[in-house]
Amino acid sequence: MDFFDICENWSRDQIENEQVVRLKKSITQAMKAPFYAKLYKDAGLSADTIKSPQDIQKFPYISKEDLRDNYPNKLACVPVSEFVRMHCSSGTTGSPVAICYTKKDIENWASLMARGMYMTGIRKEDTFQNMSGYGLFTGGLGIHYGAEHLGCMTIPAGAGNTKRQIKLIKDFNVSVVHVLPSYAMHVAQQVQLEGTDPKTLPLRIALVGAEPYTDETRKRIEDILDIKVYNSFGMSEMNGPGVGMECQEQYGMHIWEDSYIIEIIDPETGLLLPEGEVGELVMTTLGREGMPVLRYRTHDLTRIIPGDCACGRKHKRIDRITGRSDDMFIMKGVNIYPMQIEQVLMAFPEVGQNYLIQLEKEGLKETLRVKVEVREENFVEDMRVLRALQDRISRRLHDEILITPVIDLVQANSLPVSEGKAKRVIDLRNN
Ligand code: ADP
Ligand code: ZN
Repeated sequence: MDFFDICENWSRDQIENEQVVRLKKSITQAMKAPFYAKLYKDAGLSADTIKSPQDIQKFPYISKEDLRDNYPNKLACVPVSEFVRMHCSSGTTGSPVAICYTKKDIENWASLMARGMYMTGIRKEDTFQNMSGYGLFTGGLGIHYGAEHLGCMTIPAGAGNTKRQIKLIKDFNVSVVHVLPSYAMHVAQQVQLEGTDPKTLPLRIALVGAEPYTDETRKRIEDILDIKVYNSFGMSEMNGPGVGMECQEQYGMHIWEDSYIIEIIDPETGLLLPEGEVGELVMTTLGREGMPVLRYRTHDLTRIIPGDCACGRKHKRIDRITGRSDDMFIMKGVNIYPMQIEQVLMAFPEVGQNYLIQLEKEGLKETLRVKVEVREENFVEDMRVLRALQDRISRRLHDEILITPVIDLVQANSLPVSEGKAKRVIDLRNN
């Protein structure tokens, strides 16, 4: 079967030789769309420019704006009658972009997804529950098709309705789930509230992704449920989920380089960064026929992990995504990413599963308020203990982000839980 076929074991040479062949084809294919044809012709570029994978650096970047400008299907490189599906990005940072897929694109995507799942140890004997929202979001059908391709009995549970999710897990002996990090924490908490020890659920693996989370959060989900959590990465522009997945080493996500080229650039200067340095991920589809996307600036911040993975696969790994360049907020002149805050919070055993960052302004005074859920058993403690906890969190955060936040300790389960991607930051400064 193709999900653990030979290309998973390719050497670097094999990967790079195939990349050249596929990149040339992708450029020719992309130039069937007037946007790419003009962009490349004006710069004197074509498939013939490519002699090695590095020659891709001669091509201009494209941005989310370019995809938005060409909405809904002006980037089509096949007759629109060849399309069998469309999806949209979630629109986390603005109006969504649309991607249309041919039958072959859908099959390739399912195969990539299945390959990633297989790598984590999922097999056809597993029962798989997909807790992503279905519909336009690629996390629904994208993961679903991958799981079916692998041969798993697949439950399209969708997002939300936590009680039903838990019942399905128990009734159908579900061994693997795909779930957003924020929702995984919520489900675990709900299981506890129902009086069940989450460790007794039949789960053994969770694929967790679609939004940033820290290693501390991963450890928490693993401990509460007594499972293995594998980071799963993707974006609609690159198909959807299945672009990158952690192997059992749990150290970085392998990107299937027979189907994608990855580069890391300095987001300010646009210059290529050496392996190991953190910057913006730029991605290129290889082999997508309906809507190839070439040298796309993802805004996601990560680094390529140098060296070979202990698992033996030669497909490069990217590190945990720390956020998007547009997630950053500035408070009192300091650049802050929400994940810096999550990392500190989740290291406190007293801290519960959810938090919310609120940016406030009164006159000229700016305040960074962090609302933090405290575990049920810790919330009953006397005021002095809670005050001391507040101070410790505030001091640790100050060490990390260099400004002193106001910490509100709140009861477990009291902050809003999103069915989709969590909204971690609320900016009230311009109200
Ligand atoms: P949108 O960009 O509007 O959220 P998508 O639903 O296509 O649309 O989401 C893709 C984005 O989700 C990625 O670009 C990235 O920012 C984020 N993402 C996906 N998987 C992960 C992950 N495992 N870790 C961190 N961020 C992720
Ligand atoms: Zn590996």
